Amino acid sequence: MSRPRVLVSGAGIAGTALAYWLHQGGFAPVVVERAAELRPGGYKIDVRGAALQVVERMGLLDAVREARTDIRDAYIVNAKGRRFAALDADAFGGRVHGDAELHRGALAALLYERSEAKYRFGDSIAALDETGEGVEVRFESGGTERFEFVIGADGLHSRTRALAFGPEAEFVRDLGYGVASYSVPNELGLDRCEMTYVGPGRTALVYHTAGSEHATALFLWAAAELEVPRERDARLAVLREAYAGEAWEVPRLLAAAEESPDFYLDTLSQVRMPRWSKGRVALVGDAAHCASATSGQGTSLALVGAYVLAGELARAAEPQEGLAAYERIMRPFAETNQALGPRNVKSMVMRGRAQIAFATGFLAVASRLPGKDRLMAPVVNAVHAAATAIDLPDYGF
Ligand SMILES: Cc1cc2nc3c(=O)[nH]c(=O)nc-3n(C[C@H](O)[C@H](O)[C@H](O)COP(=O)(O)OP(=O)(O)OC[C@H]3O[C@@H](n4cnc5c(N)ncnc54)[C@H](O)[C@@H]3O)c2cc1C
Repeated sequence: MSRPRVLVSGAGIAGTALAYWLHQGGFAPVVVERAAELRPGGYKIDVRGAALQVVERMGLLDAVREARTDIRDAYIVNAKGRRFAALDADAFGGRVHGDAELHRGALAALLYERSEAKYRFGDSIAALDETGEGVEVRFESGGTERFEFVIGADGLHSRTRALAFGPEAEFVRDLGYGVASYSVPNELGLDRCEMTYVGPGRTALVYHTAGSEHATALFLWAAAELEVPRERDARLAVLREAYAGEAWEVPRLLAAAEESPDFYLDTLSQVRMPRWSKGRVALVGDAAHCASATSGQGTSLALVGAYVLAGELARAAEPQEGLAAYERIMRPFAETNQALGPRNVKSMVMRGRAQIAFATGFLAVASRLPGKDRLMAPVVNAVHAAATAIDLPDYGF
């Protein structure tokens, strides 16, 4: 019997992982990706808790560990660049028990190579039409094909979600911050470390990872109802305006944005949906439940969601049973991790000079004391509890 074909929209973390597990579950996945090739993407992400089990079950745990950023030290710097607090980078990033930090692009490449699927780059879904037994899909490149299921793994601004569930504004919740990230020349000569500068309402950091010839800048700032323009130049202007007159290395980092090949800017947002499936169309990863960059859990959610969705579809007698079970298992886990996003950002972006003076003064003193890395224990414990808040079913594949 031929394998039922499933269309996955998006070859990010969720899409490539889903393709792997769908094939394991007896389906024939076809992945359509808008970009011309697998997107390399510069920023660093974490694989934690239950997601580590998922990559282990894929046989990728060693490769994930090998690809880790190996950042060792995290410094807080003042306006003149003086390092006044030093912390262990894993403690600073909330990593424990073998949690791994790596580049998003490196993880996507590992997942892509591992998956057995047909990939179609440079194309996208143009229209969806559910028939009783499947979904008719019209592609932007022309042509219509029928699939057993269509799964949207196309990220925060999911096209699949817009086509099947309704406009983005109904589901995307802006948390009131802007986020930008891009590669910059390593002019500070950093070696596997990160530096954070905290200004009023705007934080900037720059980090260097093992084996990399460049560094990466990351900006996070308070911005109510930020309009994100489509064009790159206009987005650059948004960032320049947000950080105008800021101290430290910020002017140099801003200037480097002009030349950067991977400039990214968006609002810090979450996706909240009452349901993740409609008929034979379902969502996974950020498209379904984006937790925001400050949750530090978007990638782990995408990995776990892909595993559970494929597993439940494979073992269900009826598609609706499988989709319902996927939501039942994943939703509490997704919601627990989503709660981290708005909570964490409050300690990452500080509004007033008094709060900054207090927090940085405290860190300056405390980071010189023995057991200083325990300073981060409340954050680390909260993240670890959320990252392990699911019992992964064993689907026998
Ligand atoms: C600055 C920043 C920092 C972050 N830091 C962390 C972190 O520290 N830890 C963490 O866990 N997570 C972090 N994240 C979040 C993380 O990247 C995502 O949550 C995670 O990758 C979810 O994966 P996804 O596959 O659902 O979405 P994505 O990785 O966004 O992938 C979606 C894919 O769909 C494709 N696509 C989009 N539209 C279409 C279309 N119409 N047709 C076809 N394909 C399409 C895109 O090109 C992309 O390849 C961060 C995000 C940002 C922006």
